[in-house]
Amino acid sequence: MKASAFSYTRASSVTDALDLLALHGDQAKVLSGGQSLMPALNLRLSAPALLVDIGAISELRGISESNGVLKIGALTRHVDILRSPDIAKHAPLLTEAIAYVAHPAIRNKGTIGGSLAHADPASELPACTIGLDAIIVVRGRNGERRIQAADFFTGIYETVLSPEELLVAVEMPVAKSNSAHFFHEYARRKGDYAIVGLAASGILEGDVFADLRLGFFAVGDRPLLAAASKHLTGKPVTASMLADAQAALDAELDPQEDQQASAGMRRYLARQLMARCVATLLGRPELDARPRA
Ligand SMILES: Cc1cc2nc3c(=O)[nH]c(=O)nc-3n(C[C@H](O)[C@H](O)[C@H](O)COP(=O)(O)OP(=O)(O)OC[C@H]3O[C@@H](n4cnc5c(N)ncnc54)[C@H](O)[C@@H]3O)c2cc1C
Repeated sequence: MKASAFSYTRASSVTDALDLLALHGDQAKVLSGGQSLMPALNLRLSAPALLVDIGAISELRGISESNGVLKIGALTRHVDILRSPDIAKHAPLLTEAIAYVAHPAIRNKGTIGGSLAHADPASELPACTIGLDAIIVVRGRNGERRIQAADFFTGIYETVLSPEELLVAVEMPVAKSNSAHFFHEYARRKGDYAIVGLAASGILEGDVFADLRLGFFAVGDRPLLAAASKHLTGKPVTASMLADAQAALDAELDPQEDQQASAGMRRYLARQLMARCVATLLGRPELDARPRA
């Protein structure tokens, strides 16, 4: 199929883009790397009258660190994140996760802003932002909004962004010396969207989690910051604490059944991922009691 006819314009600045979006409202769509939008247009899942290409706005591109905060511009491509020494140092969870996003050709064009705005519940980066307690920075003609990542995603392909706003950056605290991270996803083939995944970060004080943020993906209509982690913090984790956490997680999940997996399989894999994450971060393999071949 081919896309419906649309007009195209290239914004020269953030102000220019916001003026265009304000003028055209929900008739316009922002174009970043095009890796999700172009397929959607070609399949006629979306038929905007106007594409506002923000690809030439250099102020939206780049990675910087200042006063303990890592800032990633919305137009920063997946490949730039993968190769960045600053990301590897300050947010190694992202370096690890991004290698699971699609394939090199897509990572060469796709952007972090596009991935977050697209809000696919099976996508890696939205879950990373909630695992890393990131702030998503959004700009409209009336100013800027700073939104906790856990509040940004509202449903399948839905966020709190209005059609007249641009996602301009993502900010997150830099990893501390006692930070630890875990990333894993189950997928049928490398580069496929996940069947279930987990992007987690924690603060370790000795053998105790002072904090643990578990960002699950592909387990519902949006990435999930699992409240079940409260069962795992503040004292050394026991097998019974882990079992309580897994039961609490199960109650939080609302997985879909699709051609990839049943809801029950997703629940099972999410519980297993939790155990694997805790065992890995604490260096206690006995907590990961997966059946082994
Ligand atoms: C074959 C294939 C496999 C893929 N596999 C994966 C995968 O495993 N994991 C994964 O996470 N993704 C995957 N993707 C999607 C890919 O990562 C996209 O690059 C990403 O989702 C969107 O980034 P983009 O810059 O291309 O955004 P675009 O496609 O340009 O835009 C996506 C959406 O976000 C909006 N948007 C873009 N930028 C902004 C902004 N700054 N402010 C407001 N709205 C904005 C657009 O209007 C559009 O609705 C895959 C894509 C393909 C084609």
